[in-house]
Amino acid sequence: MKPTKKHRKRYRLKPSVFRFLVYATFIIGLSIYAYIGISNAIKEIKYHETYEYKLTSLGYSMADTQKLISILKPERIEEILNEEQYNEMYHNIINQKYFIDHNFEDYVTYKISHSDDSYEDTIAIVNVHANNGWYNVEYESNIDDGYLVLVNKFYHLNKDYKRIDLENANLAYAYADNKAATIVLENFEQMRDYVYNNLNVKLMINSSYRSYEDQESIYNDYKNVSLKYADQYAARPGYSEHQTGLSLDITSWEHPGQKAFTESEEYKWLKDNAHKYGFILRYPEGKENITGYSTESWHFRYVGKEVATQIYNEGITFDEYYAYYIAK
Ligand SMILES: [Zn+2]
Repeated sequence: MKPTKKHRKRYRLKPSVFRFLVYATFIIGLSIYAYIGISNAIKEIKYHETYEYKLTSLGYSMADTQKLISILKPERIEEILNEEQYNEMYHNIINQKYFIDHNFEDYVTYKISHSDDSYEDTIAIVNVHANNGWYNVEYESNIDDGYLVLVNKFYHLNKDYKRIDLENANLAYAYADNKAATIVLENFEQMRDYVYNNLNVKLMINSSYRSYEDQESIYNDYKNVSLKYADQYAARPGYSEHQTGLSLDITSWEHPGQKAFTESEEYKWLKDNAHKYGFILRYPEGKENITGYSTESWHFRYVGKEVATQIYNEGITFDEYYAYYIAK
């Protein structure tokens, strides 16, 4: 048998079809290339219109740019762009540790009118509302904050506020008529024992809980001299931290005078160790512009061990702590 011969049919493109295909491929390729080019150009034009591009072009870092965009309204960003140059003030403000978004405009306003104040102070002053001037804005203290209730020259307690757990302080370590919250006295007692055993000094409670009426009478006595004098030396009724029942004016049996106590070893010890018992030095030196009070070596406030330790470690006042960690 003869093997069948297989015939393979060969397809041949006509030259005209071949030319057409080459041409079509070329046109398609060119179109894709052009399309990519044009869409990239459009993307770039669009990017040039973004705040991200405009702000970074002025010299703001990507991080600053993103922060500004996230916290400011478009109109405000436009204003910044209209300055037509990099403004380091914005960079410094938004990068402060205790920066709070919604205070941005107040920081800027304050810093412009107080150029000598540091950025750190600017942030702290605005955060605690001190940029408004003492007693010029008022908030009711939130008693639900418990041991962290804030009372200062902006936050006040109402006339009838009184803790229910006030206890008489033991006369072994307190002058007569001292009352404070139970937990405050317990912690003071432990602290006192430690100081007695290690420094051989007897800490004493000089003053503690004061009612609204007590404070009113103190304040009015000063006010008979002048309002300015009264505000300098006493809190207005409702605005005294002593009404919380969480504050103690501490002294020692050995150094009862203010000056002697301030220079004593026990005061130095308290300053660096009271937080272990939940107390903070409430009006530290150099923080008058934030607390509204000249430094008081005797006035300690109970806030609990954890918060007291954090406040001590961060070197901030309770007002700053409250603004950033609670009210924000
Ligand atoms: Zn006091």
